[in-house]
Amino acid sequence: MPLRIVPLGGLGEIGLNSMLFDDGESAFLIDAGLMFPDDTMLGIDFVIPDFGVLREAAGRLRGVLLTHGHEDHIGAVSFLLKEFDVPVYGTRLTLGLLRHRLAEHGLEGAAKLVPLERSGRFRLGSFDIEAFPVCHSIPDGVGYILRCGDGVFVHTGDFKIDPRPPDGVPTAIERLARLAAEEGVTALFSDSTNVEREGYTLPEAFVGEELARIFESSPGRVIVAMFSSNIHRIQGVLSAAAQTDRRVALCGKSMVRNVATALDLGYMTLPRPDILLPLEESETLSDRKVVVLTTGSQGEPRSALTLMALREHKHVRIREGDVAVLSSKFIPGNERAIANVINHLFLAGAEVLHEKISEVHVSGHASREELKVMIGAVRPEYFFPIHGDPRFLIRHRNMARELGVPHAELALNGDILEFSSGVLFRAGNQAVGRFFVDGKGMGDVESFVLKDRYQLSQVGMVMVVLALSSTTGEILYGPDIVARGVVTENGSEASLEEAREIVLETWEETGVEARKDTAEIQTDIRRALRRYFNKRLQRKPVILPMILEL
Ligand SMILES: [Zn+2]
Ligand SMILES: [Zn+2]
Repeated sequence: MPLRIVPLGGLGEIGLNSMLFDDGESAFLIDAGLMFPDDTMLGIDFVIPDFGVLREAAGRLRGVLLTHGHEDHIGAVSFLLKEFDVPVYGTRLTLGLLRHRLAEHGLEGAAKLVPLERSGRFRLGSFDIEAFPVCHSIPDGVGYILRCGDGVFVHTGDFKIDPRPPDGVPTAIERLARLAAEEGVTALFSDSTNVEREGYTLPEAFVGEELARIFESSPGRVIVAMFSSNIHRIQGVLSAAAQTDRRVALCGKSMVRNVATALDLGYMTLPRPDILLPLEESETLSDRKVVVLTTGSQGEPRSALTLMALREHKHVRIREGDVAVLSSKFIPGNERAIANVINHLFLAGAEVLHEKISEVHVSGHASREELKVMIGAVRPEYFFPIHGDPRFLIRHRNMARELGVPHAELALNGDILEFSSGVLFRAGNQAVGRFFVDGKGMGDVESFVLKDRYQLSQVGMVMVVLALSSTTGEILYGPDIVARGVVTENGSEASLEEAREIVLETWEETGVEARKDTAEIQTDIRRALRRYFNKRLQRKPVILPMILEL
């Protein structure tokens, strides 16, 4: 049987990364991530892939290989393990972070976690798997080289090529170049997140140096907000504080927990034994001696930083003379919340530094020149951009074409890629569903599972996939209607067909000019389908139109 590769998520969207490899004898996933909802998904905490598509391969499913510990790569593992009892492979820190998630689902003891070295090589059924280190905004990241009878495949995971890697381990470009020379690479799957950024991504070390300058020159407290998974940067804060005679108070549950995990596993060292300061003692030191390291960089409403800005936090209240540093990206969709917290910080008397005005953040993803280095090193026969919205994937594919990759191609979620003796055959498209999870009430597995089902049965969801030409507005693909928890449970295939017709009608009624505006047609489709389902089924499912412009 040929090798079959199916992206279950992350190709055409940000998050939900998961890819199936299946040669008919053995199968495995690379990553099982979640996606945070956009503002159309009210009441939804996150979205996970529908792993139901794995049922057919269940007997040969050998496990899931994790690239790194970010939620968009590990966040759905707990849900996967509830249905498929398979081993989870990952580096030690990745598994350490995963353990927190498993514990929340009561799966901690049950899961088989297999630690990997960053350059480890092992057999997984009929596959020969080799991890290789990559630099990213979380330590211990890897990509994978996968060998089987039908070729040699490289999956980069998320990566950048940091010339000054914080842990001294660079992205394994040399290893990949050697692989290309010695064995040749059938296909490369490469991270597209930053394909729109020219040049090179700055090294992580820059941020530590900039923070040290801020700590040195600020007369008062410095409050640094960032993602708690960015262990390298937390280390940078500790070192900068030690250099400038400050101590660091940790704030936020995940910050405290991740620092403990990283220290425990040896991914972080304390530059001074007394560098950490209990939060409740932070007022006992003079302001010039204090750094508060907190979560809440995205302006989340009940996060520690927001509470500090609103002067509602138990231990830290922003006052005149404080400097607040948002050491993170303004994630699209969160801009308004971030602006809101910045305004409150100013109103409370703080100065605020962030990535738009100061070098207090660098990305964890490769910019264009680094992406070219990756393609140049691997020199694959086939190239598939992964991780990103369609426009990122298409730009990245175009780059690979310009660099002379013989077959630089676009694949989206559900596309079935079959390789037989190194040659690609496209075997159509498989519906890949999504589950919407209202994560509140976690803790007890049983009630949690029931809650998922209840949520789906009560509300359900209908996804519309439609690809339109960005120049003419003509339909290039679809509309495909995928329903979960609503229509299929009523056994009514006909209503899906009717829904499809309603989408087509809506498209027809939309003027030729308006068809080019995906936001407008998206709103029209959502409105029309909501009306239809309400009338026909007396249900109000979550309608999720995915309009792709190609
Ligand atoms: Zn990542
Ligand atoms: Zn990612």
